[in-house]
Amino acid sequence: MSTKTATPTAVESQKDSSMLMQKRMINSNYDALTSAPETGRKVCSTFVPGNLNELIQCFGMINNLPETNAIQNAMRQQSGGMIQTAERQGHSEDVCTYVKADIGMMSKGNIAPNGKPMPNPDMLLLSYTGCFTFMKWFELLRQEYKCPTVMLQVPYQGDGEITQNMRDFVVKQLKEEVIPTMEQVSGVKFDIDRLRENMRRSAQAEDDLVWVLESAKNKPSPIDAYFGAIYYLGPMFTAFRGTQEAVDYYKVLRKEIEERIAKSQGPITPEGEIQKERYRLVVEGPPNWTNFREFWKMFYEEGAVVVASTYTKVGGVYDQGFRHDADNPLESLADYCLGCYTNRNLPKRVELLEQYVNEYEADGLLINSIKSCNSFSAGQLMMMQEIEKRTGAPGAFVETDLVDPRYFSAANVKNRLESYFQMIEQRRQGRMIATAS
Ligand code: SF4
Repeated sequence: MSTKTATPTAVESQKDSSMLMQKRMINSNYDALTSAPETGRKVCSTFVPGNLNELIQCFGMINNLPETNAIQNAMRQQSGGMIQTAERQGHSEDVCTYVKADIGMMSKGNIAPNGKPMPNPDMLLLSYTGCFTFMKWFELLRQEYKCPTVMLQVPYQGDGEITQNMRDFVVKQLKEEVIPTMEQVSGVKFDIDRLRENMRRSAQAEDDLVWVLESAKNKPSPIDAYFGAIYYLGPMFTAFRGTQEAVDYYKVLRKEIEERIAKSQGPITPEGEIQKERYRLVVEGPPNWTNFREFWKMFYEEGAVVVASTYTKVGGVYDQGFRHDADNPLESLADYCLGCYTNRNLPKRVELLEQYVNEYEADGLLINSIKSCNSFSAGQLMMMQEIEKRTGAPGAFVETDLVDPRYFSAANVKNRLESYFQMIEQRRQGRMIATAS
C-alpha cells in the first residue's frame, strides 16, 4: 500500500531552509576540527549522552563526538570496512559497532567526513551516563592518544530518581576535576558568566525543540519523530547547544513546522511527503544508519509515521521538563547528565513509552533491537510486553544494527513491518465490528 509522493518542489523547499542550515552547521564543526592544527584550538572528545557542550565552549574548545563520526561514516557507506579492520585487530563481533567503526577509522588514517585528517584530541571527557561501553571505548582511545582523560561519574538512576546527594556528587567532580582539567588543557580560565550565557541560549533552543517534537501530537503529524527528528536533533546533540546558531536554527525549524500544521501536511521524507497518515507509531531503540533511507522508505510506503521515539532523547529528555538553567549552572549540568535516557532504569523507560503511546495516540510500539547495543537492547522484550499490557497497543520487534551493514536484512525487516501493519489493521477492523454490533 503506497502513499503518493510529494512534488519535488515541496521537498526542495524544506531542504532550502532548516535542513540546509543543519547541514552547514554540522559541516562547519568538521571544518573547525580539521583546521585545529592551524587555528590552535583544542579538541575535546566526548559522547552525545552527557555532552557538556556549554562547558566545553567556555574554554574555546571544539567538540568531537565519536558516535557522530561513526554515523556519518555509516551514511556514506564507509563504516563496514572500518568495522572489519577493527575486527582484524581483535575486537569481537559483539562489541558495539560505533566503537569498532571509530577504531577502524583511526587505523585507516582518521579521515574526517570532510576528507581531511582529524586531529588527535587534546582531552577525553567521559560523562558516564549509564552505558558501560563508553568507559571501555575511552580506555582504548586513552591508550592511543595518551591525552588528559576525565571521567565524570554520573550515578545511575537505579531507583528511578535523582537525589540531592547524586547531584552534589556530580557538581563536586565538575568543580574539582572537569573544570580544572579543561583550564589546564585550554589555557583559558573558567568564567561562570560565560557558562550562564551559553545555558540561557541552550534553554531557548530546547523550548523550540520540544515544541517541534510535540507537534507530532497533531493529526496528521507534521513531522516524523524518529527518522526526521534525527536531523532536527543534530545541532542540539552535537556541538551547537548553547550557541546562537542553535537558537536561530530551532526558530527557523519551528516556523517551518507551524506552516506544515497550518496546511495539514504530513512529514517530508527523502521519497516525498507522506500524504496519508495510516499508522502512528512509537519507536524504541536507535535507528540503523547504513540503510537509513531504505529503512525509512519502508515506513513511507505504508503511510507509517513515527510520532515519538526514545532515541531522540539520548542527548537530553527535554520533553519531560528539563531545561539548562543559567541560575544554577553546575547543578543543572549535573541534572542533565543524571536525566539522560541511557541513565534511566527500565521502569522509568517503560513509563516514558507508556506516556508516549497514550499522549501521541499511537497505534503501537515498534522496537528496533540493535544487535550490538546492549545498553538499549537489554530488557526490550519485557518493555514491549509491559506496554502492550498497560496500553492495549500492539508491539513488534525488528532487529538491525547501528553501523554494521552485515546486520541489515531488508527483506526480513520489511516482512515484519508488513505483518505488523496488517495486525494493527485487523485490530482496527475488529474494534469497528465490535462498536457496530
Ligand atoms: S548506548 Fe549502545 S550504541 Fe551507544 S555506546 Fe553504548 S552500546 Fe554503543
